[in-house]
Amino acid sequence: MSEKVRAMHRTQLYIDGAFADAEAGGTFLAIDPATEQAFAEVAAGQGADIDRAVRAARRAFDSGAWSGLSGTVRAGHLRRIAQGLRDRLAEIAALEVRDNGKPLPEAEWDVGDAAFTFDYYAGLAEAEDSRPDEEVDVGDARFLASIAREPLGVVGAITPWNYPLLMAVWKVAPALAAGCTIVLKPSEICSLSCATLAQIIHAAGLPPGVFNLVTGTGPEAGQPLADHPLCDKIAFTGSVATGRKVMMAAAAGIRTVALELGGKSPFLVFADCDIEKAVEWILFGIFWNKGEVCSATSRVLVERSLYPRLLARLKEAAEAIPIGAGLEPGVKLGPIVSRGQYEKILAAIASGKASGARLVSGGERPAGRPTGYFLQPTIFADVPVEASIWREEIFGPVVCVNPFDTEEEALALANDSAFGLAGAVMSDDLERCERVARRLRAGIVWINCSQPTFVQLPWGGTKTSGIGRELGRAGFEAYFETKQITRFDPAESWGWYLAGGQ
Ligand code: NAD
Repeated sequence: MSEKVRAMHRTQLYIDGAFADAEAGGTFLAIDPATEQAFAEVAAGQGADIDRAVRAARRAFDSGAWSGLSGTVRAGHLRRIAQGLRDRLAEIAALEVRDNGKPLPEAEWDVGDAAFTFDYYAGLAEAEDSRPDEEVDVGDARFLASIAREPLGVVGAITPWNYPLLMAVWKVAPALAAGCTIVLKPSEICSLSCATLAQIIHAAGLPPGVFNLVTGTGPEAGQPLADHPLCDKIAFTGSVATGRKVMMAAAAGIRTVALELGGKSPFLVFADCDIEKAVEWILFGIFWNKGEVCSATSRVLVERSLYPRLLARLKEAAEAIPIGAGLEPGVKLGPIVSRGQYEKILAAIASGKASGARLVSGGERPAGRPTGYFLQPTIFADVPVEASIWREEIFGPVVCVNPFDTEEEALALANDSAFGLAGAVMSDDLERCERVARRLRAGIVWINCSQPTFVQLPWGGTKTSGIGRELGRAGFEAYFETKQITRFDPAESWGWYLAGGQ
């Protein structure tokens, strides 16, 4: 490794309350997608590190040092983490931009959301203290039965690169609030903000082993975590292909699994809506965060009478989007996260052209940007519905637009997908919006907008988009086990084998 690399910002693993290099000493480089240059060195954890981290989390859980605290005390820790994130917001946002490429205001938004997520789950942890066990009448006065809720145990969290900090926090905050302990394995493509999160959690004074961070690749660190017999739950966000492997590993150990996977979400636009508002939300639905958004509304269905006008306005507006490095002021579309993802998107665009779809705009590296993984916002129209660009997730700034004639046809086209994460509908007829919202087969539906995401609301998909929900109360309940405690009145006899008892 060169001296230049040696002098770089360097991260460590965080296991059992201490920062350390990976046991085998390996590292990998973080690449700035705007310059294609390495700018940081990340510890490459492997199976032995995962094992140490899971054992630390297991000890911390079993000791009751965290799960045995009141919700109010845990909430105090969570609020300190939230404050730590706010105190370092500018630094973390800038790091996220260099690691991921997203425009700075979007990264600032992410860090603010991450802080709020800790505050929100702190509130739910506090409320737990006054929540009694549920007593249940089982129809036999000799029995006194109640239902208790207990933290689920040790959580293995495996997260993606598109919202590197936020996707991790959506798991870490509710798991800690519930009293679980956790081992976090972020994406090797963007690990840096999670390394800073570990510093903030350390400074917040959580007991050792409650939160552990092991950076590393999917096969070397993710798979051993998914396989680890001492984990009680694997919470995963990422692609369908990896989700399948994680679920198979969980199946082998009969562990709880939560999967937040991909999408190809539809956006139904009816002719009675305001065209400017429609264009704004279509752009936000696919070009925000470079389209590297699981819920991106990447299939737009437009009522035929509006179709030509909408396409013309969409093209004009997309071509005006400022493209550049995320730290440049005014930029609204940053570089694609990595060379691998850039090549995947370019291959999808080539397959779109070959499918007979009409390329309305973009599809190329923008002029004046010879380096960096930059791509123009790309619009395809008249896309054959069997084409892979219509069916498969691209995870980039590429939108497919097709016309429809009736509401029924629009719904049929929208629901004809292996995915079911999100959907959106735009119309001035609110009755129609409500009707369509209920018939879209998806876990999230937006009316007259696309993408606004609130910590208070459940998040997750149907079909191959995943299993389970994050965020909101559902995202908290997901970190509890349910236990029944059934008591037989000691003054009574059962009288089955020993007739008459006493
Ligand atoms: P990915 O599946 O390639 O990687 C996700 C994580 O899994 C990474 O940490 C990776 O290292 C790890 N991993 C890879 N192989 C593994 C293995 N064999 N065992 C265990 N872990 C392994 O996904 P990505 O490219 O990082 O993220 C993009 C995908 O994430 C897209 O499909 C997107 O739709 C999805 N996503 C979904 C949501 C949601 O909320 N539903 C949110 C964000 C992203």
